[in-house]
Amino acid sequence: MTETTASSSGRVRTRFAPSPTGFIHLGNIRSALYPWAFARATGGDFILRIEDTDLERSTQAAVDVIIEGMKWLGLDHDEGPFYQMQRMDRYKAVLADLQAAGHVYPCYMSVAELDALREKQMAAKEKPRYDGTWRPEDGKTLPPVPAGVLPVLRFKNPQGGVVAWDDKVKGRIEIRNDELDDLVIARPDGTPTYNFCVVVDDIDMAITHVIRGDDHVNNTPRQINIFRALGKEPPVYAHLPTVLNEQGEKMSKRNGAKPVTQYRDEGYLPDAMVNYLARLGWSHGDDEIFSRAQFLEWFNLDHLGRSAAQFDEAKLRWVNAQHLKAMSDDALAALVAPQLQQRGVPEQVLADGRLVRICALFKDRCDTTVALAQWAQVFYGDVTPVEAERAQHVTEAIAPALDALADALSACEWDKASISAAFKQVLASQGLKMPQLAMPARVLTVGTAHTPSVDAVLELVGREKVVARLRNR
Ligand code: GLU
Repeated sequence: MTETTASSSGRVRTRFAPSPTGFIHLGNIRSALYPWAFARATGGDFILRIEDTDLERSTQAAVDVIIEGMKWLGLDHDEGPFYQMQRMDRYKAVLADLQAAGHVYPCYMSVAELDALREKQMAAKEKPRYDGTWRPEDGKTLPPVPAGVLPVLRFKNPQGGVVAWDDKVKGRIEIRNDELDDLVIARPDGTPTYNFCVVVDDIDMAITHVIRGDDHVNNTPRQINIFRALGKEPPVYAHLPTVLNEQGEKMSKRNGAKPVTQYRDEGYLPDAMVNYLARLGWSHGDDEIFSRAQFLEWFNLDHLGRSAAQFDEAKLRWVNAQHLKAMSDDALAALVAPQLQQRGVPEQVLADGRLVRICALFKDRCDTTVALAQWAQVFYGDVTPVEAERAQHVTEAIAPALDALADALSACEWDKASISAAFKQVLASQGLKMPQLAMPARVLTVGTAHTPSVDAVLELVGREKVVARLRNR
């Protein structure tokens, strides 16, 4: 990576910086969508950075879900993925510079001493904080360095004054420096800590806008002070409110949030997911259904919601259904075909051209591509009628009409109009009404009476199967 200083060209540069410590869910991926959208909407750059310094909890499998999920949703990055573990030398070099400039000092306080300090402060009803024992000051004598103890490094937080920023979501936030103690920025083994790495990365990657979850608001004043100690101005911040699950709890893997790739497997469309997630914390008037292009045209940081958004699976399904309906039949067939292959329909059978028409006929009644594939499968394999429907509709009384229909359909032209004419002819000769014949015909040929118009359905099932199924009841 080339190290650039904060973008002087005014070009927007955003990033998504997930920690691969669990499978990424919808609440997390929304923190990718907004910075991506802002970069795309402004002609800027979007950077993917994997914050994998928690070695015990980070996994490659979680990284894979992040990358696969973003790819599926079309949240393409211009740079990265950068891995923090591969940048340790860079952090250490910057740390050394910061130490040389007098912003960092070693602290030899042991864990036991820190615990005792915390207990004392808690007993006195004070906020637990480091008391600056090892902070060098003019005229102050530091305690003797204990033998054989490796120190942590602490950042010399400015004293007095406030750290303030104009958050694009939360408005102006001001924190008194006196509230912030001297943060540990390197462990005894010399490895830099999280808040320091984030700042070095945001500087090196020339990030102009940090758009992230509001669980990081408490880190921001500390990060801003580190920016300034490094001689840089911090980026613009937008801290997004939490996404709650349907029970109103913070969405998390522990309480059942699904990995984002599971929505792909359940038949959701990327554009519908983008639409749904976009609305989970941002609005454009009353618009609920919009395309990716419209979203990018409308998106800015001025209409981000301030309150927590709640996930609603029924609404997600509805949004998906709207996008599914709006999609071209060809595009839908391209999504459904691999699912049918997975369900055992051979590729050459699918090449017969019916799938596009099946999608056209059924897309209005499906809210996922999986539901559409379930319908489509009926046209390529065997059918087992729903027993209750068979009992209701395929009665002894209707048997002669079904035989007559099978005869008529084995002789007519095979198109919708001719099939319809065959039905009418049988209805007239048997003195029946349409539902009395159409319902059993549907149950026998596609397994259920709940289908679109019977002539269209039968045409797609094909003459041979229709005639055989009507006869072999
Ligand atoms: N790695 C952090 C997280 O997954 C995000 C840090 C940031 O965006 O600054 O919560």
